[in-house]
Amino acid sequence: MVSQPSLRYDALVLGGGIAGLEAALNLADQDFSVAVVERDASIGGKMIRLSKVFPTLDCSSCITTPKMAAAAHHPNITIHTYCELHSLARQGTDLAAVIRQKPRYVDEGKCIGCRQCEYQCPVLVPDAEQGGFLARKAIRIPFSNAIPQKALIDQENCILCGRCAKVCPTQAVNYFQEPEDFTLKAVTTVIATGFELTPLSNKTQYGKGKIPNVIMALQMERLLAPHGPYNRVLRPYDGMEPDNIAFIQCAGSRDQSLGVPYCSRVCCMYAIKQAMLLSGSLPLADLTIYYMDIRAFGKGYEQFFQNAKAMGINFVKGKVAYLDPGDHGTVRVRYESQEAEGGVQVAEYDLVVLSLGMLPGWNPEDRCALETGADNFIKTVKPKLAPTLTNLEGVFVAGAAAGPKDIVDSIVEAGAAAMEASRYLTARTLGAVSHRQ
Ligand SMILES: Cc1cc2nc3c(=O)[nH]c(=O)nc-3n(C[C@H](O)[C@H](O)[C@H](O)COP(=O)(O)OP(=O)(O)OC[C@H]3O[C@@H](n4cnc5c(N)ncnc54)[C@H](O)[C@@H]3O)c2cc1C
Ligand code: SF4
Ligand code: SF4
Repeated sequence: MVSQPSLRYDALVLGGGIAGLEAALNLADQDFSVAVVERDASIGGKMIRLSKVFPTLDCSSCITTPKMAAAAHHPNITIHTYCELHSLARQGTDLAAVIRQKPRYVDEGKCIGCRQCEYQCPVLVPDAEQGGFLARKAIRIPFSNAIPQKALIDQENCILCGRCAKVCPTQAVNYFQEPEDFTLKAVTTVIATGFELTPLSNKTQYGKGKIPNVIMALQMERLLAPHGPYNRVLRPYDGMEPDNIAFIQCAGSRDQSLGVPYCSRVCCMYAIKQAMLLSGSLPLADLTIYYMDIRAFGKGYEQFFQNAKAMGINFVKGKVAYLDPGDHGTVRVRYESQEAEGGVQVAEYDLVVLSLGMLPGWNPEDRCALETGADNFIKTVKPKLAPTLTNLEGVFVAGAAAGPKDIVDSIVEAGAAAMEASRYLTARTLGAVSHRQ
């Protein structure tokens, strides 16, 4: 283990998704120095991996990439990617964060992102960035518009053949790199650690991820994305163009058996969005959404839902109980209908998409004294009047780290968290008592 000297900033932003980047840019534009610490090898969070976004159907990567670039090029922002927070604690007037830089096995300072190593590497493994539908190499740049454009080796799959080191024009490959710990000090912190999806393995009734042609919503985002795996929508089992597709709502939310009693808020809208995009790419396909209630709560969202119905997308009120493999790669959907026909019904589809729920992206337990709520997301101590305040002085929360949220609300909350952090920083400079009551 190598240790580096400590670094000092006005603000630390934990998480480089859309909420973290927005908070960092807001603070940096006010002349505060900001460190963004991101666990992944690239900033951008989930949004950079989406196809288009509701309710405007803007291309997600076209609107996220400029934000990522603005943060990366901002003179007041320093980005630390591929880093884990080890601990966060108050040290006098500062917050001290111990950060572990995970080894990329590539010297970040030397790598010029030329991809020569990637072309030469003989190892092929499923690329999670493309929903597992494409292969990637053991050494690779994470994805085409990743920031930073720096390679990393996946140690688990590398066979140490030495080809990448041999072709690298800058001698950046270093198989002996070790984790490095460094301490980062800041006056204030914004937690923007986002969400993960409910694991498929938890849902026995939906096949635990083992039924061919039952995919997750994020995989459908990749199938629909401009730089997606096939450049068209094909079912993964046999490459067939699906004639009918079903979406299963609340597949991992509002489900006591999974310990997720809450609504994940975005799944109705993203399923409607995906169905709309599919009706463009597969105009002859039948598209059905099985739902308990449609929650289209935001500005313009109800109209979005009505537009989808007008486009011919079927909405069936009913809870899906089981999914089973059918013949020739189809999926049998068994559901309890709440429509006129009622009772248990069975339908068969070429492709089924699970609208999985949102779980917290990070658990602060054993890392710092941040409290979480009954839903395990970061607890907000004044949810009505100051919704970004946590139980720790000078630490604020934004985006899906505080609970399921869409992009609009994540951005609004990031602005509010940056404002609280800025107010805290200013009060500190003036020597005033600063935690808002
Ligand atoms: C399938 C799907 C489709 C969607 N479509 C839409 C849509 O069309 N429109 C819309 O408004 N919303 C949509 N959403 C919701 C949208 O993805 C979220 O609103 C948004 O990503 C929240 O941003 P965030 O920054 O809070 O979290 P995230 O995007 O999750 O970013 C959090 C970041 O923090 C990092 N991180 C986590 N823990 C740590 C740690 N300990 N240390 C350092 N870094 C850490 C993560 O790696 C990640 O980069 C969709 C969601 C899904 C699942
Ligand atoms: S590690 Fe070397 S070969 Fe690979 S992208 Fe970086 S500079 Fe190019
Ligand atoms: S040493 Fe590892 S990463 Fe490099 S080319 Fe060989 S298998 Fe790929």
